[in-house]
Amino acid sequence: MHIGIPAEIRAGETRVATTPEIVKKFTAKGTHVVLVQAGAGASASIPDSAYHDAGATIVTDVAALYSQSEIILKVRGPESDELAMMRRDAVLLGLLSPHQVEGIEALAKHGLTAFSMEKLPRISRAQSMDVLSSQANIAGYKAVLMAANIYQRFFPMLMTAAGTVKAARVLVLGAGVAGLQAIATAKRLGAVVEAFDVRPAAKEQVESLGAKFVEVPLSDEEKTTAETAGGYAREMSDDYKRRQGELVHQRAIAADIIITTALIPGRPAPVLIKQETVQSMKPGSVIVDMAVEAGGNCPLSELDKIIVKHGVHLIGIANLPGLVAADSSTLYARNLMNFLNLMLDPETGEFKVNREDEIIAGTLVCIDGEIVNKV
Ligand code: NAD
Repeated sequence: MHIGIPAEIRAGETRVATTPEIVKKFTAKGTHVVLVQAGAGASASIPDSAYHDAGATIVTDVAALYSQSEIILKVRGPESDELAMMRRDAVLLGLLSPHQVEGIEALAKHGLTAFSMEKLPRISRAQSMDVLSSQANIAGYKAVLMAANIYQRFFPMLMTAAGTVKAARVLVLGAGVAGLQAIATAKRLGAVVEAFDVRPAAKEQVESLGAKFVEVPLSDEEKTTAETAGGYAREMSDDYKRRQGELVHQRAIAADIIITTALIPGRPAPVLIKQETVQSMKPGSVIVDMAVEAGGNCPLSELDKIIVKHGVHLIGIANLPGLVAADSSTLYARNLMNFLNLMLDPETGEFKVNREDEIIAGTLVCIDGEIVNKV
């Protein structure tokens, strides 16, 4: 098969969908040809020469790349100009934003077989393909580093000849993949960390990282309904939200740094830090709103901006993995290869969509002009 890797054109996207390590694997048996657009890896510190040495063909003319590519690996869903260049029988893998119906309709109309990596089932067999996890992990790490960079005080407690400096207090809201990495990173920097999540299962994971779990007391019914069968958070009752809001407010005004990661797939992010809370926080505190692209966990944060409101720094950078582009691309590329290998014959390289496989079926968004798996 001819596998094409175009350069990402979305503003601020620094990642690339494959790396020389993966090119080598795809080309090892001579069953695939990998075409990489010249400069595709530049923002992730991967020169064309590294792709070339790994066995890829570097293509300068992007239209030529698209016209030859039977399989296209991307980070972001295509812009209309990119889609127009794709072959009508092409297979597309990427972060295709499955909740944006118009985008998926356009892919189906073009005739593509498309896989939206956000929809990958969160099952054990799919862990090595889980782009949401690999990227959220990096985002959680970078969120803490960005907060530390802006915060005008130390993270660790320091005892010096000039006296003692107190440790920073970090509050992490949402203890999924990103939140747990944020906790671990803040702990490594020496902060005192507490965290909370609506999923009761998160308590043990938070505590195993040495952080304190902030608990909103749950009724028996709430205990059984807080988490879906797939392990995601469910939208909670108004009464729960009120109790949660009061507790978060108290913990937030005691914190120096807040990292919010709370998401509910396909829905606006829950508001966890209200304006009144920000007003009551200590001057110089920092909030990193990792849910900013889904509307934000704090209504004051602004997409892709770092601002100060009521004396509090609000970081609303959406593409945090893009700030660690080299490693984000490394992990993303491995995830994509592992997923694609489910559909490539290891001997002949032939591509086949087995819709009986729950990982393939769950991730497929369109085939033969039809949208499947509507969300
Ligand atoms: P996510 O990015 O969808 O959400 C982030 C976190 O926010 C979640 O932990 C969620 O419970 C929490 N949240 C939502 N609403 C909240 C609220 N109002 N207040 C506080 N917290 C709130 O989640 P994710 O990180 O992608 O992980 C989702 C689940 O899937 C987790 O249980 C994770 O451990 C699990 N998972 C499983 C696998 C697997 O292969 N088995 C892989 C990755 C993740």
